[in-house]
Amino acid sequence: MNLLKKCIKLPKISNKGSVIVLSAPSGTGKTTVCKYLLKNMPNLAFSVSYTTRAKRPGEINGIDYFFVDTKTFLKMIKQKKFVEWACVYNNYYGTPKKELEKIINSGEDVLLDIDVQGGKNIRKFFPQGIYIFLLPPSWSALKKRLINRGKDSISQINIRLKNAEKELHYIKYYDYLVVNDNLNQTFKIIESIIVAEKHKRSRFT
Ligand code: ADP
Ligand code: 5GP
Repeated sequence: MNLLKKCIKLPKISNKGSVIVLSAPSGTGKTTVCKYLLKNMPNLAFSVSYTTRAKRPGEINGIDYFFVDTKTFLKMIKQKKFVEWACVYNNYYGTPKKELEKIINSGEDVLLDIDVQGGKNIRKFFPQGIYIFLLPPSWSALKKRLINRGKDSISQINIRLKNAEKELHYIKYYDYLVVNDNLNQTFKIIESIIVAEKHKRSRFT
């Protein structure tokens, strides 16, 4: 008798990729952390969002964002091309549905750098996603980072700090809170979260 035939089926890991959402108040270090993860984690792709904001020096269309005008963006909303979209600092941002599905269906994980409205909304579609909220070590550290980054005027920095207070109300929509103090430590923590999440029983069939 073939004993192997009698064995029960071994659990198999899902062959779909995971949705990983990273949100944080502006200046906390989200872009820095995303870049590191994309460079160092195998099987991880970035979800390139659409935006109506102007391209910053060094940004590349199709790599950092798909830059479109407001008319095009509004048309895309009507055509239901976004899995979520939001207005952030007077510009529209949206996560394209088709591209996102293509990545996860190919088995790759996908990293989304989106604001808290987006994090809250996308959870409804991907309840099994990995939702990480990055926190600054203190308000003074956050202000210092915004100043040192040198991208915003002092009045813009004050708007970002005010907004950060409101964004904290959304942490209830995230599963993990990571204080971005020491950058190497932050990378290690986030990598550990992702690796652990991939081994959840619910990801096996
Ligand atoms: P965000 O994308 O959240 O707006 P950035 O990644 O642009 O933030 O980071 C804001 C600034 O803070 C940058 O100058 C970056 O080099 C710096 N930064 C990021 N993480 C840390 C950290 N752990 N400690 C000190 N400075 C940091
Ligand atoms: P920035 O213009 O500095 O690149 O991004 C501004 C904010 O928009 C950041 O908080 C970023 O995470 C957020 N953002 C970028 N893409 C998207 C998106 O597709 N959807 C949502 N909701 N927010 C986004």
